[in-house]
Amino acid sequence: MIDASHLSKAYGPIEALRDVSFSIAAGEIVGLLGPNGAGKTTIIKILTGYLQPDAGTALVNGLDVLEHTREVQAQIGYLPETAPLYPELSVQAYLKMMADLRQIPVEQQPHLLSEAIYATGLQDHLTRPIGQLSKGFRQRVGLAQAIMHKPRLLILDEPTVGLDPTQIVETRNLIRRLADHSTVLFSTHILSEVEALCDRVIILINGQVKADARLSELEATSDAILVLEQRVPEVSEALKRLPQVRDVGVFKSHDGFPAYRVLGRTAKERPAPADDLCPAIYALAREHNWPVRELRRDVRTLETVFNELATAEVAQ
Ligand code: ATP
Repeated sequence: MIDASHLSKAYGPIEALRDVSFSIAAGEIVGLLGPNGAGKTTIIKILTGYLQPDAGTALVNGLDVLEHTREVQAQIGYLPETAPLYPELSVQAYLKMMADLRQIPVEQQPHLLSEAIYATGLQDHLTRPIGQLSKGFRQRVGLAQAIMHKPRLLILDEPTVGLDPTQIVETRNLIRRLADHSTVLFSTHILSEVEALCDRVIILINGQVKADARLSELEATSDAILVLEQRVPEVSEALKRLPQVRDVGVFKSHDGFPAYRVLGRTAKERPAPADDLCPAIYALAREHNWPVRELRRDVRTLETVFNELATAEVAQ
């Protein structure tokens, strides 16, 4: 559905995007995650034909966005960071205007508009001027205009920014429902948003893609946590001698017992990593009669992964 290939974009001396490539298949819901200034909006503007890249190509549904801008825009539902709303218009008048601008045939408008209105919960606010609506309801109006033509691709730039917690939950539920029928790409700097909504995340830092994977793949690790009833002197050294182990960290468990974080070798290291270190650790513990209190796989959260990537970037 989306094919971005080697996209670069600079604003004067600021390199907003550097050789960004990714693909998104039909039906996926993908989060574009990055800190402020990472380049998320720049990517979205390129994909929606509002900005020309300095290099690279963007295809939507097989069409080059630069060559077929209007056709591509007709297939996309786009909610920009600040939706272009007209505060003096009523919700109904604005949506009707957008339907006309989208050249939705007049006979189809009542049906399509009413679906968009009910999907976004605007039915009781149709006659109110947009300028008098709360931020959350204005966002819903923006979403209603983005979905009224039933686009196969929805691109949402920070859809929940500035909303209160209830509105955030409602907007997420709405996005989830929309994803039943459309491919969704949305940008955010909120980790929990990605965890709540996405199959896949693309992490953008400083204009570069630093990770592009399913959440389960990102969070997967072979690392293990071993907690003993009491300290045993040779444990760290014995664990480090296991061929699958890269390093061992020592700490105290939350209830005060000696604990070891056993780090597995990464996929790039040799010998090849184990999927799960626990069986080897368990065998070692039995062999040495260690007083095992707990043995489990360590879990990396998206937050850990994101912080590792962000810190690595700063350290470079
Ligand atoms: P945010 O989460 O803060 O919206 P973002 O990830 O969407 O950030 P972009 O808005 O794409 O990031 O900006 C990427 C970089 O390009 C930033 O350093 C920003 O200051 C710069 N930038 C964006 N638009 C312009 C512009 N029109 N002129 C100059 N610099 C710009």
